[in-house]
Amino acid sequence: MSSVTEPTRFGGIEAGGTHTVCVVGSGPADVAGRLEFDTTTPQATIQSAVRFFAEGAGAGHRIAALGLGWFGPLEIRKDHSRYGVVGRTPKPGWEGADVVGPFRDALGVPVALDTDVGAAALAEGEWGAAQGLASHVYLTVGTGIGGGAVVDGSVFHGLGHPEMGHLPVVRADGDDFTGVCPFHRACLEGMASGPAIDGRWGQPAEDLGPEEAAAAAELVTSYLAQGLRAVTYILAPRRIVVGGGVARLPGFLSSLRRHFAGSLAGYPGLPEHADEEFVSAVRLGDMAGPLGALVLARRALGQC
Ligand code: ZN
Repeated sequence: MSSVTEPTRFGGIEAGGTHTVCVVGSGPADVAGRLEFDTTTPQATIQSAVRFFAEGAGAGHRIAALGLGWFGPLEIRKDHSRYGVVGRTPKPGWEGADVVGPFRDALGVPVALDTDVGAAALAEGEWGAAQGLASHVYLTVGTGIGGGAVVDGSVFHGLGHPEMGHLPVVRADGDDFTGVCPFHRACLEGMASGPAIDGRWGQPAEDLGPEEAAAAAELVTSYLAQGLRAVTYILAPRRIVVGGGVARLPGFLSSLRRHFAGSLAGYPGLPEHADEEFVSAVRLGDMAGPLGALVLARRALGQC
């Protein structure tokens, strides 16, 4: 018999608009099982995840708690009657779906909930590009644009969660693109997300040729810099970590830093804002969300 004690393992789910990732583990160095599948209907998506955890990730791993990093909008106020319910979303079938109750009922463990970006922000703070910082912001630029803010070590919530992707932006000179946000048209997400690139150039960011990719990076980062400025002035984060598919455009990060510096225009003049690290690339990649969900699970069990 082995005398090695198994670490306490948790379950984590990142449910995004297109993919859902489930993990069992305790951190980046201990992921004992992983399953990825398409996010389809609420019932099918939740059933696939429940089965994975109920079967112990295929290898008998029991979980002590489950963390959910779910796409929004979501009701995350614990004392609210609609806690865990998905809000107004264009994603078919999801509006009004309860994403907490079914897991609690089926698995019988504590279940913690935050947004997918809130979870990713936690993970980047715990193990990634914002490690050791008490306050930072994580921003993802892909199919949508979303941000999570960690303030004094906790994901910031108020009346709902932040919606950084829907900040207003000032239209660039000569840009007559309508914008793709179904609610605001030309908000940050409407002008700088993956679908906005697709709408302008007729193909996804990853398929653009070198010249078009450079033009796309230049344009979207000029809009994103406006968002970074708003976030910086409102929340005063110690760092902003940026990820997502659009952030993989060549030259994206250097262009974003340049536009961000231009947008601040020297105010308030903190040298830290000019430091390259202030606007950092994600370090955990696609695992930020699932790993952040493990942090949520651990905290649900009171093991901070
Ligand atoms: Zn919008």
